[in-house]
Amino acid sequence: MRRKLVIGNWKMNGSRDSISVLLSGVAEGLAAKAAQRADAAVCAPAPYLAQCQAALAGTPVAWGAQDVSAFAAGAYTGEVAASMLADFACRYVIVGHSERRAYHQESNELVAQKALAALAAGLTPVVCVGETLAEREAGQTGVVVCAQLQAVLDVLETPALGKIVLAYEPVWAIGTGKTATPAMAQEVHALLRKQVAARDAATAGGMQILYGGSMKPDNAKELMAQPDIDGGLIGGASLKAADFLGIVHAAD
Ligand code: PEP
Repeated sequence: MRRKLVIGNWKMNGSRDSISVLLSGVAEGLAAKAAQRADAAVCAPAPYLAQCQAALAGTPVAWGAQDVSAFAAGAYTGEVAASMLADFACRYVIVGHSERRAYHQESNELVAQKALAALAAGLTPVVCVGETLAEREAGQTGVVVCAQLQAVLDVLETPALGKIVLAYEPVWAIGTGKTATPAMAQEVHALLRKQVAARDAATAGGMQILYGGSMKPDNAKELMAQPDIDGGLIGGASLKAADFLGIVHAAD
């Protein structure tokens, strides 16, 4: 059985003080981890990763980053290398979030290279895919998400593929309060798993596929009850410890 995984994506929010409060709220709330089936992690803005490490080391909560360079090192001003994230004991890094694709013109191929770079440094890339509203209305959801996933399949050998986490995040549901219905999300998750299964059934069976898009404590349980939804990637609701904890507990 796949473990459930709930990851907070704080985006470009927070300050040293507010993050200190949030980190202790999350860590204390999940201290009794032994009884839980769900894993939890927070993806912080890069300057706060040392703070996350200091606050979360030894707790059940993992931490990670929201983006990574496709390059290992060198003259790439402003970029952060996967090895640097590993230096701060990050376990996860989000790649291909729709905001990176939209505002930084990240292509499917670049996202795949970022996933490779993350894996090379021992990190788990959380590869995001998802369609825009226009694409959904044009009946293109399957074509879009499968092309996004295919770029990753094209560069990863099967053993490496088994080390990624996938996240289906319909762009129209992110930060809008509009959530995909459990049936809509399940349909896409099953499609993605089938695409991985065409390469390797065991890898597909073990792959965690998270849903993201206005997941909240009150809709999380129904979404995560779907057979192919293995947890959540949480934006807005991860900024309040009580909401984030509510979603992690809904996954138990
Ligand atoms: C996200 O940005 O990954 C996300 C899912 O955001 P929200 O939960 O706010 O829709």
